[in-house]
Amino acid sequence: MSTSVQDLITQEQERQESTIQLIPSENYTTPEVMAAVGSVFMNKYSEGYPHKRYYEGNEIVDQIELLAQERAKELFHVPHVNVQPYSGSPANAAIEMALMEPGDTFMGLQLASGGHLTHGHPKVTFGGKFFHSEQFGLNDEARIDIEGLRKLAKKVQPKVIIIGNTAYPFELNFEIFAEIAEEVGAWLVADISHVAGLVVSGEHPDPVPYAHVVMTTTHKTLRGPRGAMILVTEKGLDRDPKLGDKIDKAVFPGLQGGPHNNTTAGIAIALEQAAQPAFKEYGQQIRKNARALAARLQTNGLKLVGDGTETHLMIIDVREWGGGTQLAYAMAQAGLVANKNTVPDEPNSPFYPSGVRIGTPSVTTRGMKEAEMEQIADWITEIEKLTRQFDLPKDKTQRKMILQAAREWAEQAPELKRIREEVRELCAQFPMYE
Ligand SMILES: *Cc1c(COP(=O)(O)O)cnc(C)c1O
Repeated sequence: MSTSVQDLITQEQERQESTIQLIPSENYTTPEVMAAVGSVFMNKYSEGYPHKRYYEGNEIVDQIELLAQERAKELFHVPHVNVQPYSGSPANAAIEMALMEPGDTFMGLQLASGGHLTHGHPKVTFGGKFFHSEQFGLNDEARIDIEGLRKLAKKVQPKVIIIGNTAYPFELNFEIFAEIAEEVGAWLVADISHVAGLVVSGEHPDPVPYAHVVMTTTHKTLRGPRGAMILVTEKGLDRDPKLGDKIDKAVFPGLQGGPHNNTTAGIAIALEQAAQPAFKEYGQQIRKNARALAARLQTNGLKLVGDGTETHLMIIDVREWGGGTQLAYAMAQAGLVANKNTVPDEPNSPFYPSGVRIGTPSVTTRGMKEAEMEQIADWITEIEKLTRQFDLPKDKTQRKMILQAAREWAEQAPELKRIREEVRELCAQFPMYE
């Protein structure tokens, strides 16, 4: 039996078309972006920067990179931008490398509180291994513990504070973080990978007036190709006029070789699309949908971390029965694709976490609105009730067995099969691509 790559692409397309995509970091990029990413820009080597290349034949590549830079500067109101990072993680590594020497101290939001691995997660990550990382967390209301952060900053005197989130449902108040960074003389880096699309549509506080450096991926709410950008703000250049050069040198030759010019072309297109009035409406609807989804889940009796959302995402809290893994798996069987996630003060383990993270960027791209969010919330509620029979046993030796039983149940449960068909019908009304 042999499967062709084309068959697998068709199957993946069918999977995406017929399921409801609730992972908050994913989106459906546009056909124009995909065409650019699949274009002949793929073929060209361009180590260096516009007009300073190590290879001949880059006259046109220079134009595409300058165009992407110009559009990013205009959209985010910054004086300097680097569009070459291969993705968000290498971009954060470049920022860390530009602003610190090995062994220097920096601070980030811990993973279990909704931060990202690249914000200094200890031991296993680049940041955690080559620098000294100190992590802050949340208070009792599941919000970033500002006073704890301030105390820690005063104690450890970090060179850099990174503020950003992947599983934190609330807005980030960059003004407060800037105040603390100033008090200890640290660089403030804002990682807006998840919320960049909300920032440009005016639906999330803008870090640019407060941070020295801003990083964003281009494929999440920004809806472009997989990639990232590093923005240097006026404030950053005021503190160090060479900051732009330092960032550029850390990206190339510090960490990377040739830029992915095809991605750069896709970024240029996505930035133009994000500057249109329709994108502002998109950002507004992402949040309206998130609020509608959260409200209906709560009316239905489900618990959410922090009691709700101010952004595009929320975390369903099932610590009562320990069912993050079981619920995410059962939802996927019904065509509702999300991911299991830890909750604050996770009582179990990251392998059997007590939450499920869901978000609205993808469903909003498909044109779904509040009414569809209520339908999705009702399906999730029904599945959560059914899945409770597989509560996580305290006895660790029994956990594998229960999870296996939950899987076997989910694969044949008639209720999930019924919802799967209903999901398919809803998806047909909201095609990924018109
Ligand atoms: C997604 C994300 C990243 C990493 O991006 P990759 O493209 O997956 O490497 C970094 N920081 C934050 C806050 C993110 O959400």
